[in-house]
Parts: sequence; C-alpha cells; structure tokens
Amino acid sequence: MVYSYEENYIKTRPQHLCKMCGKCCRVSTNNKYTYKEMQKMAADGNIYAQDFLKIFEPYSSIEAAREVDAGTVDNIIEKLKADDCYDEENLTFYKCRYILDNNLCSIYEERPKLCIMCPSSGWVVTPPGCGFEAWLFLKREEDMQRVRQAKEELLDLKVMRTKTHDENLLKKIDSVENKIRNTIKIFSEKGSMYW
Ligand code: SF4
Ligand code: SF4
Repeated sequence: MVYSYEENYIKTRPQHLCKMCGKCCRVSTNNKYTYKEMQKMAADGNIYAQDFLKIFEPYSSIEAAREVDAGTVDNIIEKLKADDCYDEENLTFYKCRYILDNNLCSIYEERPKLCIMCPSSGWVVTPPGCGFEAWLFLKREEDMQRVRQAKEELLDLKVMRTKTHDENLLKKIDSVENKIRNTIKIFSEKGSMYW
C-alpha cells in the first residue's frame, strides 16, 4: 500500500508525546481560509470545511480567545507575522465544542480526520509547551535537509545534461528534474528557495 506524505507522517508520530493539555482544541485557527470562506466551502460540500465547522465554533474576537489562552493566541499571531500572512481583520480563532474540562475529547472515537491528523506536519503552529514541539522541530529539519539534497541532485543533473546528446537520457533528466522541483515547491511557502 502506498501512503501519502501525511499518512506516513501520522504513522511515525510518537503519540505519547501529547500531554493532553487540550490547548490545541480550546484555541485553534485556520490561516488558509477565512471563516466566511470555510462556511462557503462547507455549503458547497467540502468535507474538510464541514468537519471543521462541525466541531469548531468561532470566538467572538481575538481578545475573547486571548482570555482563554493568551499564550496560544500570541504564538499563532507571532508565527503568522513571521510568515508575512497576518491579516487581523480576517483572522478567526475557534474553540472546539467537544473538549471537556478534564481535557478529554467527548467524541474521541468519532472525532474527525482533521483531529486524528493533527499535528500533520512539522510546520503546524502548536501552542507553547505542546509535547510535540521538539519532535516537530526535528521534522522541520528533516524537510529542510530533504530540500538541500534535492538541490544538490539538481546540480548533478545540470552537469549530466551538459555531457550528453542522448535524447532518451535528456528526457529522463527532464522528468527527474521535474520531480525534484516539485519536492522543493511543496515547501516554497516555508522559504525552501533559501535553504
Ligand atoms: S497542544 Fe500538543 S500536547 Fe496539548 S493536547 Fe494538543 S497536541 Fe497534545
Ligand atoms: S473533536 Fe476532540 S480532538 Fe477534535 S478538537 Fe474537539 S476535543 Fe479536540
């Protein structure tokens, strides 16, 4: 069976690192889509948006979320600013309807895939003190190393290209180069061009 990048990620994630503090369920955000966009996506049948809005309800304001967990709110805002994608007007924080006072999930067995997958990459923003922090740092380092290797391979291919006129080999080089460029592109939003 071929696993996707995310599924492979989940398979290797050491679950015991979760401290069950419940912070990621109490204050969360979605910086890819605004609340309005999520509502539209859900109405149009997007499963991810439907699942998200089924469990999460928006805080009335950033301040309201800050009253629950200022550390997590500030951590997220700081990260968005660092990535140059902080848009205060359209930023919504959410709280899950199903988190219990003892930090357990009241729908654990039926929780949606987005909860099962979280954290789904080394690049997600976690609340300060999250048990996955150090492990996610290592995963980011691995991603960066992968991109550096890919760039070295591109250079090798460039040299190889200068040494052949074989059409078949040149086609193969094109194909491998495209695959490598796609690997680098996956991390372009994270700054892979500078790694
Ligand atoms: S913030 Fe981290 S440690 Fe806390 S519940 Fe979420 S994943 Fe677990
Ligand atoms: S459904 Fe459960 S795991 Fe998912 S955010 Fe809510 S409390 Fe957390």
